[in-house]
Amino acid sequence: MQRDGKKEKLLGTEVLARPTLDKELPNYSFNEMRQIFDENVLDGKVDHQIIRSALRPCSEVKSMCVTWLEKHFEATGDISPHSEFVKVDVNFKKTLFEEYKAHCLGNKQKHVGYNSFCELWCVLFPYCVSRPWCNVPGKCDTCYEIQKGRSDPRYRDLYTQTMFNKLHAIHRGGMFNIERAKYKERALEAISQTKGKETTMSLIIDGMDQSHCHVPYLGNASSFSDPLVQHITAIKEHGWGVRIFRTLGTVDKGANLTIYCILRQIEDWKRRHNDRYPEKIYVQVDGGSENANIYMLSMLELLVSKRISREIIFSRLPVGHTHEDIDGVFGVIWNSLRDIPVLTLDAYEEACIKAFKNDGLDVKVETPMIIPDYQMYFDKVLDKHLSKLHKEIQTQHKWRFEAVTPTTMFPMGCKTTFKAYSSDIVVEIRKIPPAQAVTPIGKITGESILQIKSRHNLNNNNNL
Ligand SMILES: [Zn+2]
Repeated sequence: MQRDGKKEKLLGTEVLARPTLDKELPNYSFNEMRQIFDENVLDGKVDHQIIRSALRPCSEVKSMCVTWLEKHFEATGDISPHSEFVKVDVNFKKTLFEEYKAHCLGNKQKHVGYNSFCELWCVLFPYCVSRPWCNVPGKCDTCYEIQKGRSDPRYRDLYTQTMFNKLHAIHRGGMFNIERAKYKERALEAISQTKGKETTMSLIIDGMDQSHCHVPYLGNASSFSDPLVQHITAIKEHGWGVRIFRTLGTVDKGANLTIYCILRQIEDWKRRHNDRYPEKIYVQVDGGSENANIYMLSMLELLVSKRISREIIFSRLPVGHTHEDIDGVFGVIWNSLRDIPVLTLDAYEEACIKAFKNDGLDVKVETPMIIPDYQMYFDKVLDKHLSKLHKEIQTQHKWRFEAVTPTTMFPMGCKTTFKAYSSDIVVEIRKIPPAQAVTPIGKITGESILQIKSRHNLNNNNNL
């Protein structure tokens, strides 16, 4: 191996055969590291971690920084089962840099400068990206508490940090990843139906970030002082396409609008399937009050009672972890128009449709100016005791409405069952008063006390 004066340059998989002792490694420049990393990782030949360990920069402080980043992303990153990307809850790289710096200072270690920190992140962790559609990181209470604890200067010691990392791993593996997998299963059921014999429809509905819906929009360099506020709600029907509903102040966001959008999509399904309604419908929503409310459930029950459908399964995805395909839809729209001026409503509509032109999806934009008041209709017949169904511990994430023969038990011919989560066992982490703390992390932090609870299927309905 030529070391003196000449820098040894290895590219491609050769680098893997190299000795990994730090002192043996040449001092790769960021560009060289980027080239090697990209060549090996982007085509999926080698696992990220292996290539990273072979690419450790020779300076010890940089190596330590890579190790810190690796541990950080592993512990706090949100690894999605269907994407290469690891989503990280930070708004700015600077925030994470400050955290890293504080860690080093706390341990009396040297740290790299901000520029090197960003370079190391970009070059060696290109798949670890800030979560793009989450303007309020930590909407999930558990993630928020863990994040708050992790960045609290009082808890910088390795033991407490490890405990927080473990808590997050429990949260990820014990709750939101299994809920997500269940969601994917439902979407797949709809997508994999034989063409012409479809009986199942699966959709997800959500609203777009308000700050991305202003018209006229002058591009990213300037802003219009008094823009028209349009609100965008989108439905993604799995295996079919996207329908964008925009409202312009004449229709409020709320249960009525969500119900209207879902009914429109069911109608659209019927139009595409020789006037047949889907026998089974999966409705997926996030935890917003416009989606998860008693009116929504009432409408679904009514649809089954009237035999529009035989079975409807309503699932509420865990709060703060629904950055799923529907967020991808908003991402596509926003990316296509963020840099160009969009001056009129028509231009906004065109930009939305154009955004998906390469995706093979059916995309429609609809602008309802007036919708029915479903809430008023249901208010007369609702049991007021049901008002807590979507609050805190009473929250039930999964509901099933199925057609049964009308009896005294089920006079409407619809049997309703519910359970806490889609998966049978979920680990919930809850905040409890300090005096009740039993776990080591609860005792250490004194105030951010969390306890693990498992919640089993409540109504023992295995098929739900
Ligand atoms: Zn969370």
